[in-house]
This record gives sequence, C-alpha cells and structure tokens, in this order.
Amino acid sequence: MKIGANLGVEQHFVEADPRVDPNGFGQRRMCKSGVLQIMQWTTHGGATLELVQGDITQQPGDAIVNAANSRLAGGGGVDGAIHRRGGASIMDETRRRYPDGCPTGSAVITEAGNLPAKYVIHAVGPVWNGGDRNEGDLLRSAYQDCLKLATDHHCESIVFPSLSTGAYRYPIKQASQIALSTCLDYLQQQNVPHRIVFALFDEPTLQVFSDTLKALTEQ
Ligand code: ADP
Repeated sequence: MKIGANLGVEQHFVEADPRVDPNGFGQRRMCKSGVLQIMQWTTHGGATLELVQGDITQQPGDAIVNAANSRLAGGGGVDGAIHRRGGASIMDETRRRYPDGCPTGSAVITEAGNLPAKYVIHAVGPVWNGGDRNEGDLLRSAYQDCLKLATDHHCESIVFPSLSTGAYRYPIKQASQIALSTCLDYLQQQNVPHRIVFALFDEPTLQVFSDTLKALTEQ
C-alpha cells in the first residue's frame, strides 16, 4: 500500500508495507493511535523511527532531548517545559556538572528528575543566521551527539523535539531533512537506540517531518 496519504487528515491504519527499501530499511507503516498522529519506520533489525504529535515532556523514553542554549541557562519552549515538569534537580545537576555550558552543535546528559525518562540530553542547536554560518553541520552534530550519548548510556529509546526550529528560527523543512537523515544514517549503522521518537508540537511541523521522512525513505 502506498505510504503517501496525508498524515494530517488520514485517520486510518495502513498495514505494514512488505517492500524492502534499497537503503537497508525494511517495513514501513503509518497509523493513527488515539489523539497522536504517528508515522513509523522500521529497520531490518527492528529499530523504529516514529513521528508523533505532542508535548515532549509527556512522551516516555529512556532519554528525552532538550532544546537547550549554550549556557544551559534554561529558557522557553522545550527547555522551559522540561525544567518545569522535570523539577529543579535537573538544573542543579546541570550547573554542577557543566558550569561552562555546552558548545553549539554538541550535547550533555543529566538525570531526568520527574520526567518519564532516565536521562535528559541537553542539545544545543544553532541559531539560524541565513544558512552560511555552518548551521547545517552544527545541527547535524547536535543530533549525532545526542544519539552517541544515548548509545553510551544504554538507552533503548530517545525522544527528540525539532531542535532549533523555535526561538532559533531554523527553517523547518531544512531542519527536518537534517534531523531525520542523521537519525536514519545512525540507525543504519548502529541499530540503536532501538526506538527513536520525534515529538512534534504542532500539526504543521508533524506534516513537514512526515513529508521529509517519506521522501528520505522512498528514495
Ligand atoms: P530552539 O531554541 O532550539 O529553536 P524551541 O524550544 O524554541 O527550541 O523550539 C523547538 C521546537 O520545539 C519548535 O518547533 C517548538 O514549536 C517545539 N516545542 C516547543 N515546546 C515544545 C514541547 N513542550 N514539546 C515538543 N515540542 C515543543
């Protein structure tokens, strides 16, 4: 069955597509589950990459990724939501372990306080400045650092927001291409973390990510 239906309006379940993708990934399927719109991609090794709509602090996972700033000072958006729901222990640990902050394009890890996770990975994506300030490489390396930290800490699952596309103004289409291709490349090499989830706040962002995932996986 063709995968190209519009995730934003379709409310059906599509059976797994038995076609095998030449890039090494296996079945694909998408479904609507409760209030969450979901698109899921499964590798031959059984690892999955999923797109869901919702607040990242409500998504269970071994590691939850924070869209942090380089001072690790706390802020709005994802950062505000994570510290609000996770409690003060996360900021206490961050200040203690990483007093110099975290350079753009990298990530650090703490425990997760009251969040439904073991760890928070604080990733610093680039501020968008028109695209000629190395933003693409910095965004890719922020995602790669998160995946490496999750692997090193034996995380079975990791939940990402869309880094840099809020206050940092990175154009969503380009950001989604980097986010998803980086994760697909990593899964292709490592097959861990076994479950990668993108928790996307609003439907337009979910739609852009699902279009990009389709394009990347149908190549
Ligand atoms: P950045 O500073 O890296 O741009 P933001 O937190 O401002 O990070 O936004 C990143 C993306 O996360 C934006 O698309 C924003 O809409 C989205 N977002 C904001 N709050 C949440 C949340 N609680 N859960 C998931 N996504 C969120």
